[in-house]
Amino acid sequence: MSALRIVVVGIFGRMGRRIAELASDDDRLAVVAGLDRTDATKAPGPFSAHGLPGDGIVLDGTAGLPACDVVIDFSSPTALAASIDKARAAGAALIVGTTGLDASHHALLDAAARDVAVLQAANTSVGVQLLIALVADAAARLGPPWAIEITELHHRHKVDAPSGTAVALRDAACAGRGLDPASSTRHGRQGHTGPRGSDEIGVHALRGGDVAGEHTVLFCGEGERLELTHRATDRGIFARGALDAAVWIAGRPAGRYTMADVLSLGRA
Ligand code: NAD
Repeated sequence: MSALRIVVVGIFGRMGRRIAELASDDDRLAVVAGLDRTDATKAPGPFSAHGLPGDGIVLDGTAGLPACDVVIDFSSPTALAASIDKARAAGAALIVGTTGLDASHHALLDAAARDVAVLQAANTSVGVQLLIALVADAAARLGPPWAIEITELHHRHKVDAPSGTAVALRDAACAGRGLDPASSTRHGRQGHTGPRGSDEIGVHALRGGDVAGEHTVLFCGEGERLELTHRATDRGIFARGALDAAVWIAGRPAGRYTMADVLSLGRA
């Protein structure tokens, strides 16, 4: 069987490099090209010229792509429209791990999903996917007496806040409690806040050091507290999840898919 041909958008980034490294160790996968911002690429050429594993080439972002099966984008929201164009032109599936997307980006993804298979996930790790399901369940079972607060901690280079994973956890908590995310979310607190409302979901972003990603959802009751935490100690978990998703999505019909479709996290 021939290897799955992958294009990585954001190839010079922390995630892009990790995806290329893991793919080069997997016979099922071949990263045939990488894209990055023109100013970051400087000299398009073979991967080896950039210290990247594999036989791919780095394009400058405007050149055409070689034939490919899946485009994987872990870069910036500004790259999304171009990544969609490239996936459409190649007839390839699209995986978007980039965070900081807004409603306009999701509208683009919805439109793209009419033509190609699209999977967008703010977190591609198995553990966080399970955490999302647990949070929705706990929020529904515990109900309004339990205040829900979410904290996230990431390395100092992260450019968006709160993390896409914190937003996904907030959405899961709101789904469980039947709350509207837009009106319930409280980003940090400062000054004379008054007492906490029972329908608030607090979301708090911490930044520093080299932390790959930590998320805690606190359920604060009277006299007891439940904390559900996920700690990423190696961003390889996100890269592996994205590559598993690539294997899963290649050849699927057009439509929007999620990591829950990829992972079988069935009940015991
Ligand atoms: P990074 O800053 O290390 O890398 C981003 C790369 O994208 C850089 O090389 C940059 O030059 C490139 N880039 C930026 N704009 C571009 C454009 N318009 N076209 C092409 N390339 C462009 O960041 P990172 O830590 O690798 O994270 C990348 C994204 O993935 C972020 O949004 C981050 O939050 C997200 N992320 C998602 C997961 C997940 O599980 N889904 C995990 C970790 C990070």
